[in-house]
Amino acid sequence: MFYTLKFKSLLIFALLLTAASTSLSLLGELRGGEEAVSVSAAGSGAVLIIDAGHGGLDGGAVGADGTVESGVNLDIALKLAALAAFCGQESVLTRDSEELHYPDEDASIASKKTADQRRRLELINSVPGGVLISIHQNKYTAPQPSGPQVFYKGSGLSSELAGLMQEKLNTELASGGRRVATPASDSIYLMKNAKCPAVLVECGFLSNPGDLALLSDGGYRTKLAMTMLSAWMESGHHSYGGYI
Ligand SMILES: [Zn+2]
Repeated sequence: MFYTLKFKSLLIFALLLTAASTSLSLLGELRGGEEAVSVSAAGSGAVLIIDAGHGGLDGGAVGADGTVESGVNLDIALKLAALAAFCGQESVLTRDSEELHYPDEDASIASKKTADQRRRLELINSVPGGVLISIHQNKYTAPQPSGPQVFYKGSGLSSELAGLMQEKLNTELASGGRRVATPASDSIYLMKNAKCPAVLVECGFLSNPGDLALLSDGGYRTKLAMTMLSAWMESGHHSYGGYI
């Protein structure tokens, strides 16, 4: 596989981070309180809010072979959360299952979907230092469009992170893709109403046979998660308290 080497290097990188974190904390403890404080103070306290788009009654887009968007989104989100934890980056998930609990089981499907969106927004806006990464898959009427596309809310960290992610996704996954990060439409409820920095990643097109094959591969989904996380770590706003 073409990404094996890079995956290995990320694992090594993560192990180094863990080792560095442990040794720095130990160093701080050994030397007294001041160093320990400075080690933790180096982190920003940012928390990644990882949103696997759709779920429950809402499967989202469906590929020609029956692949349902919500399941692909969830797998990438869980991989991203696991990798983040491994690198010492705190995160929360807006859902961790394909099954969702709706407060009113007798409500119409539309009301249930609205209730779920409101629940997610409430969670997103309740996390101090939150940064939202919403994960989706694209679909188009024609099969030609392919590749990842990143959207962002407003300016500042949102556009900075989206730019970094798009660049990395283009070079690492879309072999020279030329898409640029784009402001999100106001019609996307979570992006419009989230009060924190927010990006939405359309990882690929379920309507494109090449993308569909890639998105069906667990290794490729790991690589998508790794690429998103490395953009976040590179943005310098991660909660890891070390010196990278
Ligand atoms: Zn979607």
